[in-house]
Amino acid sequence: MSAMQCGLRAWARVRTGRIARRAALPLLVLATSACYRPANEARPHGSWAYAVEAPKAGSRVLTVEATFDGARTERLGIPRDSVPWIRGMKVRAGDAWRTVERRGNEWFERSCNWRCTVSYEIDLGELANSCGDEVDCARRIGDATLSPALAWLVHPVPRTDVPVTVRVHAPDGAAFATGMHPADQSNRSFAFRSFDLDEGSFTAFGPMRRFTIDAPGRPPASARIDVAVVGDARYAMPDAAIRSWIEEAANLTVPLFGRFPVDRATLFVVPAKGEDEVVFGKVLSLAGASVVVVVGDKMEASARHKDWVLVHELFHLGFPTFRGEGRWLGEGLATYYEPLLRARAGWATEAEVFRQFARNMPRGQGPRGSSAGLSARDDLDTIYWGGALFCFAADVRIREETRGKKSLDDVLRASLERGGDATRVWTVRDVVSLGDAVTGTTVLSEMYERHAARGERIDLESLLASLGVVQEGREADDSRPLAWVRRGIVHGVHPDAVARRP
Ligand SMILES: [Zn+2]
Repeated sequence: MSAMQCGLRAWARVRTGRIARRAALPLLVLATSACYRPANEARPHGSWAYAVEAPKAGSRVLTVEATFDGARTERLGIPRDSVPWIRGMKVRAGDAWRTVERRGNEWFERSCNWRCTVSYEIDLGELANSCGDEVDCARRIGDATLSPALAWLVHPVPRTDVPVTVRVHAPDGAAFATGMHPADQSNRSFAFRSFDLDEGSFTAFGPMRRFTIDAPGRPPASARIDVAVVGDARYAMPDAAIRSWIEEAANLTVPLFGRFPVDRATLFVVPAKGEDEVVFGKVLSLAGASVVVVVGDKMEASARHKDWVLVHELFHLGFPTFRGEGRWLGEGLATYYEPLLRARAGWATEAEVFRQFARNMPRGQGPRGSSAGLSARDDLDTIYWGGALFCFAADVRIREETRGKKSLDDVLRASLERGGDATRVWTVRDVVSLGDAVTGTTVLSEMYERHAARGERIDLESLLASLGVVQEGREADDSRPLAWVRRGIVHGVHPDAVARRP
């Protein structure tokens, strides 16, 4: 999957066999360097402005008019899957429109070097059909269609870093929902930077049921989660139960982050026919926080606390996005923290958490004898479980070295306080530096060097033994030296406070 945030398709299936996944980050970074914009460079002049006409009832065809100002290129492109379904690409020439030349997967129009207005149509139904209704590409859900915005926004190639606005006109009251950053209160106009189109938030057109959930935000404001139950599918869970489930899951992130991690997110619920659990989830966040969860239409409300996917995805919103690196860290953090958040809320037991870690983390070790570090491996086991093992071991060491005064939780909170939510791009180095600074240790930089860069193995068995994690079916061994760390990890509080508990 191309996006940096998640991508559990195959994974969710694997996990159906009950597995876990992912891990975290640290960094130092002044607020200004906490984003990926080219530092100390004047931003180029220019802008892109899109006017999008949502499909009429019964249609899946989008009509787009785009004005590129100062693109300094004659090439226009879009993800390859979308190319065959772009129709009637024309450029405004005075009062008329003329056809734009296409070569291969791109269009060429000289006037775009300075300023041009092009128009085109894209059939999202044909696109979805051609790419197997993948959520990453386009999916038909009854008469509705869901896709990332990048699937239908043709743009100059290569991109410069310019502001983008997208205005959506919905004819005849046609419904749409998008995670793109609102530019104003109209709910029709959105704004982000051109580089954010790497992800382009999820957007749905067509029939859907909508509701809004308030979560604890930056005081005194609330955070808002706009939920779109896409299409007209019915679920075993009534909408009220879906709403409660999302609200509960959102609240699981609050004790860790101090609030729901973003001010606004849009969450799309998509049906999985005949399934009784969540089968897939994904976050696209750079152009605005959006989450998709593919929910079994036979999933009962009573199963919601057993689901890990929604908690995993919502956790992602609280950590920065990496560009072209560090997927093992982002997924590792989410894989490590999802069971902890559920355990801290009483949805899972301590024994279940460590049983899962003991069973699954060996998968993240990579092939025996291999010297490739986490940074150099790109298999799913490494990305999810290798990353989670790194985060687990780092958390234990930080707690041990600081005698329980600091933990990986502090690193997460500090990065979010400095603006590092999923809508921002940071580097792994940013996180590692901040983590060392916040914890007053060199745990993260040392571990990064040993395990991510050099490929040294983490001794999971010794780690588990030191925490008092014993064989399945037996009570944890509280006589072990780091048993207090084990309890602190699961309870999410200072170990002294745990010790004082009756
Ligand atoms: Zn993920």
